Amino acid sequence: MLYYLFLRDYSATEYAESIGQSDWNIRGIRETALKKIRKLYGGISSTYRIVLEKDAPVIVWDFHSLLIMVQMCFSFMLTDKDSDMRMCKHCKKAFVASRKGNEFCSQKYKNQFNVYKSREKKRNKSDNR
Ligand SMILES: [Zn+2]
Repeated sequence: MLYYLFLRDYSATEYAESIGQSDWNIRGIRETALKKIRKLYGGISSTYRIVLEKDAPVIVWDFHSLLIMVQMCFSFMLTDKDSDMRMCKHCKKAFVASRKGNEFCSQKYKNQFNVYKSREKKRNKSDNR
């Protein structure tokens, strides 16, 4: 399932459209990223090829191991600006935002954060007096 999502989400054309850049730009960026990844993982890294699926070109990755595939999926997820992954403003843990603009992993932490913030404000006010 992950593999399917990965292929679907990262069709170069789709991705290019979403950020308003040309296909070839994206492929260039990807190529550079891939070179870096290859350096990082040495000889065990994965390769890819481009195939035509329906009307859009799609990248097919040939992963040498399931672990590397999962690592790559997460790397792309983490670096994607449209990703739902966020870092909680309060506890600094990664979480999946259910709504856009969500900054906290839970309502409890959001409340806590706001309480601390207002306390700090009060403190600053009294210091200025
Ligand atoms: Zn949190």
